[in-house]
Formats: sequence, structure tokens, C-alpha cells
Amino acid sequence: MSDAPLIDPFQRPITYLRLSVTDRCDFRCTYCMAENMTFLPKKELLSLEELDRVSSAFIGLGVRKLRITGGEPLVRRDIMEYFRAMSRHLETGALDELTLTTNGSQLERFAGDLAACGVRRVNISLDTLDSQKFTDITRRGDLDKVKRGIDAAQSAGLRVKINAVALKNFNDVELFDLTEWCAARDMDLTWIEVMPMGDIGNEDRLDQYWPLTDLRDQLATRYTLTPLAERTGGPARYVRLEETGQKIGFITPLTHNFCESCNRVRLTCTGELYMCLGQEDRADLREPLRAHPDSDEPLVAAIREAITHKPKGHDFDYSRQRPDGQVSRHMSHTGG
Ligand code: SAM
Ligand code: SF4
Repeated sequence: MSDAPLIDPFQRPITYLRLSVTDRCDFRCTYCMAENMTFLPKKELLSLEELDRVSSAFIGLGVRKLRITGGEPLVRRDIMEYFRAMSRHLETGALDELTLTTNGSQLERFAGDLAACGVRRVNISLDTLDSQKFTDITRRGDLDKVKRGIDAAQSAGLRVKINAVALKNFNDVELFDLTEWCAARDMDLTWIEVMPMGDIGNEDRLDQYWPLTDLRDQLATRYTLTPLAERTGGPARYVRLEETGQKIGFITPLTHNFCESCNRVRLTCTGELYMCLGQEDRADLREPLRAHPDSDEPLVAAIREAITHKPKGHDFDYSRQRPDGQVSRHMSHTGG
């Protein structure tokens, strides 16, 4: 049974791995990180070789989609070596999709290389089209550079989806501008409800919280929204805007329960496997990786054991007007 696919206790096949390759980032988005983040010592992080071993083990166990995230994945030194290594699984057909979520700041440099490695789509996070607001929310980002990154990605033939975190009193006023800007560039747009992750200082999340039900109602005042049946096994739901042809996604982990179709697990840059984004339960895969450099059997056994603990669902809940179910780690640690 060593090559049997991963099926969790609720009969959900695990076919999607989200892998954080670094906790570092060149931005400090206010909803994600504190201004003065302390990053992990390098020896804590999985090496590129360890990332290859663990990713390949998951692919051997039936994972068909691999999304690289972080922190900012493209600030990890030599990360293209890892992408090049993973492209062999696309070539053999063992992997359907290799993709990444990025803030776009390094895409001008790497878009061509990513396309050459078989990456076909990228998610780029961008919350505002106002340069000053962009620098404020990212605490250091340069909007023009990110726009050049988007251009480079499209020129390299990558399909771009924009991810925006929905923030009241921030980008609510840009709903239509962002929609039309994306439409003009043939990009889909997904909105993410802000989640209670990590201790990020003084931000009051209840002040920022913009429910996507409200966002969707506002969109419907201007466009015809056709719900799409498409499901990715995750928390996203999609509509098509008939006037632009664009797909708009809504990621609402706080207000909708999507857990019954969950097909994914997340691995942190230190090798901790989280079976659920909203739960603390995790398994250490770095130990079997490092203790057995010449055999992946203990690693595979640890993965199988971990999947038997995948919980039925998460506990996020804003309904009592406080961020219950808050988990203490940062999004940059687990990867969004
Ligand atoms: N640095 C890359 C980026 O920004 O795309 C990848 C990592 S980032 C943690 C992944 C996604 O998580 C981004 O789209 C970001 O906007 C989102 N994110 C970060 N903190 C969040 C929070 N507290 N609530 C909801 N989404 C969050
Ligand atoms: Fe960096 Fe992405 Fe977090 Fe922003 S959301 S601080 S870009 S990891």
C-alpha cells in the first residue's frame, strides 16, 4: 500500500500541496506582518534539496497541484533551482500544475524563467491602484515595479490572476476601478476576506473587516453576476461578470464553510505540515527528512500518519464580534 493515494479520515483525497519556501518578504503588508518582523534563522528552513524531496514525496503520494508561496517565494535565494527541479514532474505527467502566489515585486526578473519551468499561471497580490496607498499598506512596496512585473508575466505568456484582500475604509472605494483595470488586462480578480492570523501589532481587524457578501452586492449594482459551478476544493467561489467576461472569485473562509471539499494541506518553510489553515494541529516533516538523508520511507510514513489527523474543519468565527478561533501564526509562515 506504499503508493496508495492520500485519503483523509473524511474520505477527502489530498491532491493539493501549498508550500511556503521562505518566511521572508520584501514587503510588510499591515494585515500580514508586523513592521519589525524577526525572521527565522536560515538553518531552520528546509534547504532547496529538502524542499525537492518533500515535494516529490507528496507528488509520489498523489498530489497533482503544487502552489509555491511564502513569505515572498521569489526573494528566496536560488529558488529558480527548485522550480527547475519541479518541472521534471510536469514533464513526466505526475504533476498537473506548478504555480505560485507572489507579490509581483520580482517578476520582472523571473517571469521568463518561471514560464520556461512550465509555470502557466501566477496569482499576484495587489490591493490598491493608488501608489501612495500601495506603499502604505505594504509599508515599502513600489506599485510601478509590481505593474512592470505583471506586464513581464503576461509577456512571458503567464496567465495572471489578481488577489486583493478586501479592506473596509481602504480599497472598498476602488471596487469598480480594480475590476475594470483587471478586465482591461484580461485578468481575473479574487477577493479575500481578511483573516485573523498572527499578532501584527495595533491593527483592529474588526475595523478592517469588509464582508464579501457586501462587496458582491455592490458589484451586482453595476454588473450581471453569473455564479459558476467551478470548485477548486478550496474556499473560493466564482462568478462571471457578463459585461466584462471576467471571473471574480470570493474567498470567504470566515463566513462560509468550505471544509467538506477540502483537498489540500500546507507545508511551512520549516517543514511543519498543517492539515488545516484554521487549526494548530501540525506534523514535523523536517525531522524525518534530516534524520534519514538517504531514505524517504520515514518521511512518507510521517506524511501518511499526519493525514490521519486532518480535522473536519476550522473554527474561525467573527460572529461574536471578536476574532474567535484566531490562530497565532502569521500568514507568511504558513503561506496564504
Ligand atoms: N507574498 C506573497 C503574496 O503576497 O502574494 C505570497 C504569500 S501571502 C501570505 C499570500 C496571500 O495571503 C496574499 O494574497 C495575501 O494578500 C494574503 N494574506 C496575507 N495576510 C492575510 C490576512 N490576514 N487575511 C487574508 N489574506 C491575507
Ligand atoms: Fe509579504 Fe505577501 Fe505577507 Fe504582503 S502578504 S507581507 S507580500 S508575504
